[in-house]
Amino acid sequence: KSLAEGLLKTRESLFRKIARSVAGKSKIDRELLDNLEEILIDSDMGVKTTLQIIERIENRTIRGRYANIDELTPILIEEIVSMLQDNDVEEVEDFVIPDSKKPYVIMVVGVNGVGKTTTIGKLAYHFKKKDKRIFLGAADTFRAAAVEQLNVWSERVGVPIVKQRMGADPASVVHDTLTSAIANNADIVIIDTAGRLHNKIGLMNELTKIKNVIKKIIPYAPHEILLVLDSSTGQNAYNQAEKFSKATEITSLAITKLDGTAKGGVVVGISNQLQVPVKYIGIGERLEDLQIFRKREFVNSLFG
Ligand code: GDP
Repeated sequence: KSLAEGLLKTRESLFRKIARSVAGKSKIDRELLDNLEEILIDSDMGVKTTLQIIERIENRTIRGRYANIDELTPILIEEIVSMLQDNDVEEVEDFVIPDSKKPYVIMVVGVNGVGKTTTIGKLAYHFKKKDKRIFLGAADTFRAAAVEQLNVWSERVGVPIVKQRMGADPASVVHDTLTSAIANNADIVIIDTAGRLHNKIGLMNELTKIKNVIKKIIPYAPHEILLVLDSSTGQNAYNQAEKFSKATEITSLAITKLDGTAKGGVVVGISNQLQVPVKYIGIGERLEDLQIFRKREFVNSLFG
């Protein structure tokens, strides 16, 4: 699936609404910017981010040079791109991770149902295609289904998994995973963690504990704490982003299910709100349907 196909719903929705707002106009005016504000908020870009974008467009158009209508899309694309954090391209370029960082440890966090396990399976698939040795760690021991699901992915992709019985200490699973991974000369270790959003302190304690076990074995790890969010849940995704960023230091985002929603604006709003880069996007259920996020390409696909 191409990026444009994956973003079809958001793209069509934006296109239709913007086309309606610009119809019959030759200049960008106040009314158009008001409509645009509503359109961006509707796409779940978030009020704060939308107002920032509109203000910048306003300064460049009606407050500055009174711009022609056909300048709207290029200006809009530029201003949205400027809201997005830079992805660390060296590390993620086509799923290549430099050997100097081996084993590269990705700790994956997020609530149940957002597509966390699927994203881990997809990541393992893409890294494996680059001839990397992957180890999965099933540290979400809270639900039997979580371990089982991750196991299914490990078999499907053909990568080893380290797991213990349900209810086992996640820290112990993490310890086992890293020692096995190091003994087997693994390149990349991906660790699944429990996604229950009990209280803030509970979540913080659990994630801190896991992080500390990782650090004890590999001082520079985890290289990434990847938060997985479901784009189709709108405001919930914002709330989860807020809660997790208070509980631990999120370094990167994976935004899933963009193929099923017209609310693709969450990608922009959440990245801007947390000041954390989006690293991966999910645009379908198949293993191939995970892409490295490139901000310009993404925004161009939304308006192109
Ligand atoms: P978890 O509970 O967070 O581990 O969620 P799962 O990985 O089990 O995913 C929940 C559901 O979302 C499954 O049916 C997945 O196939 C689906 N899913 C995950 N990512 C995507 C995506 O990018 N697009 C679509 N359409 N479905 C997805």
